[in-house]
Amino acid sequence: MGSLFPPTRFLFGPGPTQIEPRVYEAMAKPIVGYLDPFFFEVNEEVRTGLQQVFGTKNEFTLAISGTGSAGMEAAVSNFVDPGARLLVFSAGYFAERIAEMGRRHGADLIRCEKPWGEVFTEAEAREAIEREKPQIVAFVHAETSTGALQAPLAITKPAHDAGALVIADCVTSLGALPIRLDDSGIDMAFSCTQKGLSCPPGLAPFSIGPRAEERLKARKTANSVWYLDLKMLSEYYGAQRRYHHTAPVSNFYALREGLAAILEEGVERRFERHAQMHAEFVRRVEAMGLRMHVAEPAHRLPNLNTVRVPEGVDDALVRRTLLAEHGIEIGGGFGPLAGKIFRIGLMGPLATPDGLDLFFGAFEGALAAAGAPAARM
Ligand code: PLP
Repeated sequence: MGSLFPPTRFLFGPGPTQIEPRVYEAMAKPIVGYLDPFFFEVNEEVRTGLQQVFGTKNEFTLAISGTGSAGMEAAVSNFVDPGARLLVFSAGYFAERIAEMGRRHGADLIRCEKPWGEVFTEAEAREAIEREKPQIVAFVHAETSTGALQAPLAITKPAHDAGALVIADCVTSLGALPIRLDDSGIDMAFSCTQKGLSCPPGLAPFSIGPRAEERLKARKTANSVWYLDLKMLSEYYGAQRRYHHTAPVSNFYALREGLAAILEEGVERRFERHAQMHAEFVRRVEAMGLRMHVAEPAHRLPNLNTVRVPEGVDDALVRRTLLAEHGIEIGGGFGPLAGKIFRIGLMGPLATPDGLDLFFGAFEGALAAAGAPAARM
């Protein structure tokens, strides 16, 4: 078989994103057992680091084994009992995934839809919540399929007024933009490691607030998904240290190191850096005559830019050229946005002026090679 030599890539897609060398180095360090005191030290650093990037004092903050979808399924399976009324605000692919999980867990599912790329106003959310009377409401904070940012309070205020708990998908926001969980009204938040945290995929950061903790404690039936049972996971990661599963130790090392790098930079400074690079990205893309997909600047994700594909240009050819000639990965659109948008991530080590120069140096040529005349770019 020989040794492994992966190609060098610049990950400008929606994720996984570029990883700092120190994170790779952490993954190469000797592993310890799943009940080793050192593992629990690392776990505690992960927990407190996650609290800082989430912006929360929630004690119940942990990293679940698995990717972002494991976090999503943990939220749904622990809080949406069969027959529970679940309202999903859907304007993209990942909201639909939450809805599908809810359906499979036997929820009485209602979807409130908008076109992909739009967000919900408080008035729209209130109207739907008052009409449907859900027990649980779910939304996607940063919709990776569209590049749109949903303001949490627009959903959480009317949900709480109606006595519902709120699940938020923070998979693309965590580590790159503020979530401010404690001020957001979000009761259960889940994320991933391979986007704003600049780590490899493999863990799902998860945090629940006091209302959700109470709901969890009061739950009478066992979660039907044994692996994601939060009560059992809290007995493993909490004071009891009771074996539940073999934690992926190297992924915990990576996350610990990625969080250390973020805290060294400063959480707020990191958010500001991503916001500044986004502003510069939009300026440069518009100077080329291209349009952002999300019309309203305040509704755009700072770390995942969705750009309209110019008329007559084959987006797959542009992506192929970038990968083959420059080692640059970007994402395409899917669902109703297939062939219509590019999804360009500017996260972590690539959210810098040099990262922008690297990207635009290649992007302009790849667009021209795919037949975009300068006037249409
Ligand atoms: N939610 C959102 C918003 C995502 O962008 C993704 C993945 O890109 C997921 C959930 C699923 O995460 P994963 O692919 O890590 O399972």
